[in-house]
Amino acid sequence: MLIVPEREIADLMTREAAFDAVEKVFAAMASGDAYNFPVVREAIGHEDALYGFKGGFDRAGLTLGLKAGGYWPNNLEKRHLINHQSTVFLFDPDTGKASAMVGGNLLTALRTAAASSVSIKHLARKDAKVIGMIGAGHQATFQLRSALEQREFEKVIGWNYHPEMLPNIEKVATEAGLPFEAVELEGMHNADVIISITSAFAPSLMADQVSDGTHIACMGTDTKGKQEVESALLGRATVFTDEVAQSVSIGEAQHAVSEGLVKESDITQVGAVINGTHAGRGSGEDITLFDGTGVGLQDLAVAAAVVDLAVEKGVAIEVDF
Ligand code: NAD
Repeated sequence: MLIVPEREIADLMTREAAFDAVEKVFAAMASGDAYNFPVVREAIGHEDALYGFKGGFDRAGLTLGLKAGGYWPNNLEKRHLINHQSTVFLFDPDTGKASAMVGGNLLTALRTAAASSVSIKHLARKDAKVIGMIGAGHQATFQLRSALEQREFEKVIGWNYHPEMLPNIEKVATEAGLPFEAVELEGMHNADVIISITSAFAPSLMADQVSDGTHIACMGTDTKGKQEVESALLGRATVFTDEVAQSVSIGEAQHAVSEGLVKESDITQVGAVINGTHAGRGSGEDITLFDGTGVGLQDLAVAAAVVDLAVEKGVAIEVDF
């Protein structure tokens, strides 16, 4: 069995490799070659932690396994550890033997950023110039860095519930040589692409704050009850997702579906667009919305890629197991 510790991931994994792995596995999901197992998420009654498993099998990539982990809200204060902790376990699909254990913390951010980037590549207008960020926390910086590689963006605008956090994303824009402007939510009218990545339980972005032709990636809602955008926006948009079952239950679409504004059958896997079985954006006037809920297969895909890179560079630790 191979071990790739968390400390090695930053030097091994690139945004490009994460993007390729996620694009491939979304395509495999849409063609029926890969599927996710039901998600387990439990409040364990210790340290206020939420712990769970996300797993799946990709028959095309021969990747089988799970990500185990969750959220320990007291880690930072009590132990100087980050609050989100996860580990990916891979298994040999021919034998069931454990084949790898991989640090999953940085990989989670990279695979989540790759998901919205895949949606931008396949759904945003080619002439998109202004990208709007809603959210400025840990994930937001990864999201923006990756998204900027998908189009010839000329400007970044941003809004955050806690405005004092906006310098986090301004720094990414500056590093990319782009101007940054802090805006009110009304200002999102000027964005061609919007990414929302917050932990909100009530909508920030309203349907009438979005212009025709915009692509929106809603990435923060991954649990029942969370919500980032007004459900009427989903009614106005053509809705895509990583996985429909998660989109309607724990994703942004949960609200629009329960309010009868969108039907489950209206929601398309982005993999269908990658595979060419769905046309994607209909016109330059359409609003496209990607509901990125985060699936186990994304974690397995990036972990498998990182194991290959670790072996190539001689940094994978081999243990007799
Ligand atoms: P973080 O704690 O670093 O940042 C939280 C962000 O949410 C900040 O921008 C904060 O200002 C904002 N926020 C907090 N309360 C808000 C409110 N009431 N209204 C509007 N905004 C509010 O968290 P993070 O690590 O950046 O994660 C952000 C979200 O992304 C979380 O909900 C997390 O569960 C989710 N997430 C999703 C995926 C996925 O695959 N879809 C993967 C990882 C994380």
